Amino acid sequence: MSHDEAPMIGTDITPFRPPGTPEYAEAGASFQLAAPVDPAGAFTARSVDDVVRAVAAARRSGRPLRLTTTGHAIGRTGPLTDSLLVRPLLDAPVRVDPDARTARVPAGKTWGDVLPETTRYGLTALHGSSSTVGVIGYLLGGGLSFYGRRFGLAANSVRSLTVVLADGQVVEVSAAHRPELFWALRGGGGGFGVVVAAEIDLIPMRRIVTGMAVWNAADAARLAPVWQAWARTAPPEITTSLRALSLPPLPFLPPYLAGKRVLALDGAVIAPTEPDLPAARRIVDEMLSPLTALAQPVANTWAEAAPQALPLIHLDPPQPVASYSDSALIHEIGEADWARILDAGPNLLALELRQLGGGFADTPANGGALDRFAAPLHYYGVGPAGEETTRDLKAVRSALEPSLTGFTAPNFVDDFERPQRTHDDDTRARVERVRRAVDPTGLFAGDVAATRDQD
Ligand SMILES: Cc1cc2nc3c(=O)[nH]c(=O)nc-3n(C[C@H](O)[C@H](O)[C@H](O)COP(=O)(O)OP(=O)(O)OC[C@H]3O[C@@H](n4cnc5c(N)ncnc54)[C@H](O)[C@@H]3O)c2cc1C
Repeated sequence: MSHDEAPMIGTDITPFRPPGTPEYAEAGASFQLAAPVDPAGAFTARSVDDVVRAVAAARRSGRPLRLTTTGHAIGRTGPLTDSLLVRPLLDAPVRVDPDARTARVPAGKTWGDVLPETTRYGLTALHGSSSTVGVIGYLLGGGLSFYGRRFGLAANSVRSLTVVLADGQVVEVSAAHRPELFWALRGGGGGFGVVVAAEIDLIPMRRIVTGMAVWNAADAARLAPVWQAWARTAPPEITTSLRALSLPPLPFLPPYLAGKRVLALDGAVIAPTEPDLPAARRIVDEMLSPLTALAQPVANTWAEAAPQALPLIHLDPPQPVASYSDSALIHEIGEADWARILDAGPNLLALELRQLGGGFADTPANGGALDRFAAPLHYYGVGPAGEETTRDLKAVRSALEPSLTGFTAPNFVDDFERPQRTHDDDTRARVERVRRAVDPTGLFAGDVAATRDQD
């Protein structure tokens, strides 16, 4: 039987296609291989009209409508079984307005699609560490960028969103139009509609200083507290990530990382104009000198670079993987706790601490439901899907206990069963009110990130 003749499930769910069809496989393709993607029907929307048709079909069928772009976080929300899955992958270009310093990004684009369009004008965006991440999903979840200590969360750089609501209306949402929905969409945890485009602010960025310094794992517990002390008073021009890495011998990795256990310090310093470069280099020197005085790095690639180099520096996996992870916003780590934390996850690929503070902690004008992080550090642990990783993640969490704030950065949550909390109770109640107003029948209810610790 050709896929055109494949039977539809239940009532007519056109344009969604059933399991076993190539269209279903294409729409459900996911970067996260550890979470099952088994909706009752799936559809890749190539236009805003397609999205409107999908919303209408889901409403008619009485099934919940779920969203995916890359599937990086497909495990963040509950099982997809019985729902319909729409993947908005619009056939529309990224449009940059260099004078206004904005970009209009259609749904489906990754940062890898956007950056070549902006950097040709000497502009960049508050993107994350990987070019494979979907722009809309990243922005709606806050967005932790290596430019963030200067410019804050990426969600604050959103000027407007175009959204297909549960009733099929296509609405422009901004600080001036439907401000309450605009507020809730930015960090509220999903379940408001399908965002079909985002207009974002761009920032001038001619050069950056970026790279990675790498030490033997044996030196990690001595070096990490020194980094933490530096991070406390570091200038906002720099944002870094300190990771205990244990990466397999993959061909795309440099020899000092492939198959080795190491401590790695990467990130970026901004140099918006050429004359900013000497100061940017000095900031890196000031960060590295107390560390190199304690232990010589086995590699150090920190150097001046074009902003296009930044998504390559963190060495995120370029291909789909099956992984388990955990994350939390944390207070500073006590001097005596470092060794226990760093040793708690021997099978993890990475145990990361991202430097927050600076612009991440500032309250912006017109921010959304999630517009800042007060915590000084963000923890993220990840390993291959399996029991060893589950055990290690639990052990790291328990070692981190004295530092846990009880809050998480929603972008890094990819397991709906793991407790998480993003908002205080008042913010959460306000988000729920907006959700009920725009989606009274709960068409998008399955797309809401779980906040189980409060339920
Ligand atoms: C390798 C890697 C590196 C990462 N680095 C960073 C980083 O540096 N900083 C950071 O902040 N995060 C980072 N993340 C996390 C990433 O930002 C989140 O997982 C984000 O949610 C991914 O969005 P997506 O659209 O790619 O994923 P998806 O799983 O496709 O979508 C996740 C959720 O986003 C929402 N969503 C997606 N598209 C739409 C849409 N069109 N309309 C409405 N809602 C939508 C939905 O609620 C969906 O459930 C990283 C993730 C990975 C895997």
